[in-house]
Amino acid sequence: MSQTADTKEKPYKPTSPNSKLDFASIWEYDPAPESSDHVEIKDKYELFINGKFVKPSKGRYFKSTNPATNKVLTEFAEATQKDVDSAVKAARKAFEGEWSSISAKSRGKYLFRLARMLQERAREFAVLESMDGGKPIRESRDVDVPLAAAHFFYYAGWADKLDYAFPGKTPEPLGVCGQIIPWNFPLLMLAWKIAPALACGNTVVLKPAETTSLTAMKFAELVKDAGLPDGVVNIITGAGQTGAEIVNHKDIDKIAFTGSTGVGKLIQRSLAGTDKKFTLELGGKGAFIVFEDAAIDQAVEGVINAIFFNQGHVCCAGSRLLVQEGIADLLIRKLKDRMESLIVGDPLDKNTDIGAINSEQQYETINKYLEIGVEEGADVFQCKCSIPDAGYFIRPTLLTNVSQANTVVQEEIFGPVLTIQTFRTADEAIEKANNTPFGLAGGVWTDKGSKIFKVGSELRSGVVWANTYNKFDPTSPFGGYKESGVGREGGLHGLSAYLKLN
Ligand code: NAP
Ligand code: MG
Repeated sequence: MSQTADTKEKPYKPTSPNSKLDFASIWEYDPAPESSDHVEIKDKYELFINGKFVKPSKGRYFKSTNPATNKVLTEFAEATQKDVDSAVKAARKAFEGEWSSISAKSRGKYLFRLARMLQERAREFAVLESMDGGKPIRESRDVDVPLAAAHFFYYAGWADKLDYAFPGKTPEPLGVCGQIIPWNFPLLMLAWKIAPALACGNTVVLKPAETTSLTAMKFAELVKDAGLPDGVVNIITGAGQTGAEIVNHKDIDKIAFTGSTGVGKLIQRSLAGTDKKFTLELGGKGAFIVFEDAAIDQAVEGVINAIFFNQGHVCCAGSRLLVQEGIADLLIRKLKDRMESLIVGDPLDKNTDIGAINSEQQYETINKYLEIGVEEGADVFQCKCSIPDAGYFIRPTLLTNVSQANTVVQEEIFGPVLTIQTFRTADEAIEKANNTPFGLAGGVWTDKGSKIFKVGSELRSGVVWANTYNKFDPTSPFGGYKESGVGREGGLHGLSAYLKLN
């Protein structure tokens, strides 16, 4: 590994003339404004292929809306098979050419640069993320954007230390990676995908979700400004068909997919019999287990965060509350009181707790599940908060009087809807928690360390939080058991998913 500066590396130019970032402050974060006044949204976004913004081969574009207003924000290019092919060719050329010839240290520097640029433009990214996807600005400002930058910082540090990360092995990149991401954490999922892939020396073709492509296209501008060699990062927009074209492209070495279990299964089928590597991060139905000895007010805050964070559009959401019988009435009463104080509305208002449902389609899906819940005999509680007339909003909802076999307990609703069941013993809680097709995340609330160990070791979930929930860190692996997926992202596990380790 070279210790001297790579002559091919281009110098770093801050994107913001007022940049005050230095290394001492890289983990700090500049609060975002609650206004869309100074963010630029173009009328139309092209495809980012081989370092250039290019028109789609068939000249077709699709509209993208702000789900809080239902107004059209912009248009994105629809990538066809031909465009996917151009993107893959560009990625292959970069992989075999310039990207493989620069030093690992320089690769790391490019990633540090992207991380810093994300921080410099954090305000803009936060506002755009909230406008495009409906999430409250407080969340995009305090969670999505800083965590996305943190992923780039974290993996930047590994780029020239892969030999130390995997002692006794010879780490080598896989090649061209096709990456397909969902709409619930658009920029963050992009960071989860691009940062480790590049740190390991791969090149990428990434497709954001149809309803939330804006921050990915802004990120493409950063890639250009950061001076990355052409073709290392290609970002192409489109719908499910474009994703399928990426999956089926013959010259792709690895598919990294985050999305629904249904599409994940389709992809796994398409990949069967090929030598493409893959990681699939799919759906979840997390159990949030509260024992009688838990600090009850803190547990109530935990529940609020577990299910209403990002409107419940969270793969690892604690969407099933399992509460020990002796405190169930008290906890539910406190939970209802707390829910009445939640503010549902304008995602750009910094006081908003719960923003807009991401799309009309998801709004309909959630309402369909509420109908099914009622048909199955559930009691519905919704807080009385006002909601805007335009856009897609759903009041925070509890479903009680449900049983383990009910659809609303078994299937991922992906909205601000919590089912509540009770239990008597730890074994019963664990059995109920494990009794769904998923195994992504879970949480346990108790004063007793022994219960944390028991539940933590017996839940079949990739992540188990204790006395907290929905906490993320780039150093820790994330992924699922059962129908929640295959493979891990984050931490060292996330690196090994982008390497040949011989
Ligand atoms: P989705 O419908 O499966 O879509 C995910 C991505 O795949 C989108 O970019 C989508 O494009 C694309 N796609 C659709 N059909 C495809 C096909 N046949 N072949 C290839 N790509 C295809 O999922 P979503 O509704 O966007 O996201 C929500 C889901 O993601 C939830 O189930 C959630 O639990 C899961 N999720 C999991 C994790 C995790 O780490 N485990 C993290 C976040 C989200 P279009 O947008 O055009 O449909
Ligand atoms: Mg949108």
